Amino acid sequence: SDRIGGVPAARIEALRVRESATFAGARPKSAAAAAEPSGFLDGVPLHWMLDWPMPFRMVVAQARGATITDIDDNQLDDFCLGDTGSMFGHSPPAVALAIRRQAVKGLTTMLPNEDAAIVGRLLVERFGLARWQVATTATDANRFALRLARAITGRPRILVFNGCYHGSVDETMVRLKDGRPINRPGLAGEFRDLTQATEIVEFNDVAALEAALARRDVACVITEPVLTNSCMVLPAPGFHEALRRATRDAGTLLLIDETHTISSGLGGYTRRFGLEPDLFVLGKPIAGGVPAAVWGMTDDVAARWAACSRAKEPGYSGMGTTLSANPLQFAAMRATLEEVMTAQNYEHMERLAARLETGLARAISSAGLPWHVVRVGARVEFVCAPGPLTSGAEAEAAHAPELEAAIHLALVNRGCLIAPFHNMMLVSPATTRRQVDRLVKAFGDVCGDLIA
Ligand code: PMP
Repeated sequence: SDRIGGVPAARIEALRVRESATFAGARPKSAAAAAEPSGFLDGVPLHWMLDWPMPFRMVVAQARGATITDIDDNQLDDFCLGDTGSMFGHSPPAVALAIRRQAVKGLTTMLPNEDAAIVGRLLVERFGLARWQVATTATDANRFALRLARAITGRPRILVFNGCYHGSVDETMVRLKDGRPINRPGLAGEFRDLTQATEIVEFNDVAALEAALARRDVACVITEPVLTNSCMVLPAPGFHEALRRATRDAGTLLLIDETHTISSGLGGYTRRFGLEPDLFVLGKPIAGGVPAAVWGMTDDVAARWAACSRAKEPGYSGMGTTLSANPLQFAAMRATLEEVMTAQNYEHMERLAARLETGLARAISSAGLPWHVVRVGARVEFVCAPGPLTSGAEAEAAHAPELEAAIHLALVNRGCLIAPFHNMMLVSPATTRRQVDRLVKAFGDVCGDLIA
């Protein structure tokens, strides 16, 4: 059809063309930098940077609090916040100070320090799980936690929900297509049939989950409490209770990946909604933007791991990386846990995120667009389709890449940066009410343009 998300395709294209010119006009220095030869593959140090919707990437001069300034001196209210890595603001003062102090006292030693002991106790207290390990990315934390789950259960398979993302963890890279499991389309260099090792069912589908677990060969279910990586799909009432019951009945472990849903409040969605995971992963913002991740387990899992590692053949476990658990990570994690991820900050984030949610929903309804808004604590998303969404398949169908890209670009030209790939906006402790109101106003203007 010639409509995408209820908007005529020609209008979307007109918006994109107009906004591309505006973007380029305001950024001669970034444009010149983009035209220079670069030592990087495709001109970028991380190929994900190609996915921004702008005609070329702005070069960042600095990022402070919830504001990014580019080298052409354009200021942007940053609601992307490094796609969650800076969810608590860019360079939170306490973290910056801790980094500065540690910077001259050693950056990596493969030995613990005194901060490590403090962080260990803080993790137990904050997230409720008994035993922890430190990794450097959430991807790694998930990989290690899944390996441990297979080790202690002696089972080969894992289960994921359709539409999931847990980092570049090979065995999670599957999808359902017309109800059948397949390797995730687009994967580079994958020569294995990943569906051999991985069960996949739709989020919120308890019957399919129970059927998949009934074979009792699944070591672990890995999931976010809310699917946040394919639009946002909230759990149906009772879904988490059913998930916990079904996994326990089948002798399957439950890994909750809180990397995005830590937006829910102190202790994450797990604590706020009383989930009872066996394994827990948190990456991205745990060290205020310094690469770090943590994974935790219950006492029971820890005891089973102890027995398992006594029984297994000696040798490399397949878990850990050299620079993990270094003193810079501990300094940054300690500052984050003690001074940044606080109840008071969460209260600010929640309040402004609720304001953003209401403002966006109002703009959508005044424009008469068939869209909706969804929020998990400080994390807000607009979806260019009716809602609520209940599964990964519905979320995929709701995705409108051309429309979303044009909106993102138009928002940048109005001073607001939101996350690429999805329509995610994060509210940090540094975010102000004025910034939220500016985003709501900009979004309303763009909606107005699309329907005019
Ligand atoms: N878990 C979840 C839920 C995520 O959204 C992501 C990244 N988007 C990851 C894990 C992986 O994080 P990283 O890329 O830092 O390894």
